[in-house]
Amino acid sequence: MLEDVQGKVVLISGAASGIGAGHARVFGAAGVFVVGADIQEEQGEAVMQGVRDAGGKASFVRLDVRDLEAWEAAVAHAKQSFGRIDYLINNAGIYRPGTVLEETPEGWREMIDINQTGVLYGMKAVLPSLVAAGGGAIVNISSLYGIIGSAGSVSYHASKAAVRLMTKAAALEHVSDNIRINSIHPGQIDTPILANLTPELDAAIKARIPMGRLGAPEEVARASLFLCSDMASYITGEELQVDGGWCAS
Ligand code: NAP
Repeated sequence: MLEDVQGKVVLISGAASGIGAGHARVFGAAGVFVVGADIQEEQGEAVMQGVRDAGGKASFVRLDVRDLEAWEAAVAHAKQSFGRIDYLINNAGIYRPGTVLEETPEGWREMIDINQTGVLYGMKAVLPSLVAAGGGAIVNISSLYGIIGSAGSVSYHASKAAVRLMTKAAALEHVSDNIRINSIHPGQIDTPILANLTPELDAAIKARIPMGRLGAPEEVARASLFLCSDMASYITGEELQVDGGWCAS
């Protein structure tokens, strides 16, 4: 069903860990050539080696998503490695708790720089190549916390809510370029980022998931693969919750 993705090239930010690494494995297994990018070089190289060991094609490039020039270099790396670029998974992100009263100017700026500006820079760097190639797809990884509120993560909510509407704006800007841009809103996914939740928040969230379990990174990645593929040919500017029913409850 997903034959059209074979031989396409995906650039994944935050590919060294968690959801990004899950994307590398799922896209690699589907025959997509993977360019994994992250600030964690050793871990990122290891994830790409895992994709190659499983029979896929993959290459790693160092990328700090706050640096537009580094994004442009990552796009050049993808083209040098595999000759083209078709998909972007804007996934790198951080989470830290913090209420309005607790948040510092530095903490706020860091969250916005990575989670929000990093997504803008990714789209800015990749879109000219997609336009020139006559099409492509972008998936921005927001969060369920980009749709619903909670107490104690104000800067994270701000950054992820921005990604939700940046996605719709960019989708409309490029709707006639044969480029589809969608956002995914994971619920609670089993990755190292969860170590930053307070125990109280962690317990409260788990109690709210109707499926009664955390999601796996691959379950998010399969949703992204669908959105990149021709199976989603009439879907753009959409927000897809991958959350075990949490938002429906
Ligand atoms: P993760 O396991 O911590 O992976 C994120 C990766 O991005 C890490 O390798 C991280 O490096 C890297 N990174 C951080 N800052 C970066 C930067 N400036 N430039 C490039 N790479 C950077 O987290 P995850 O759970 O997979 O999260 C991936 C995305 O999903 C994030 O956008 C997150 O907000 C979103 N999300 C996650 C969940 C969840 O429950 N896990 C739920 C909703 C949304 P370091 O280890 O050095 O930080």
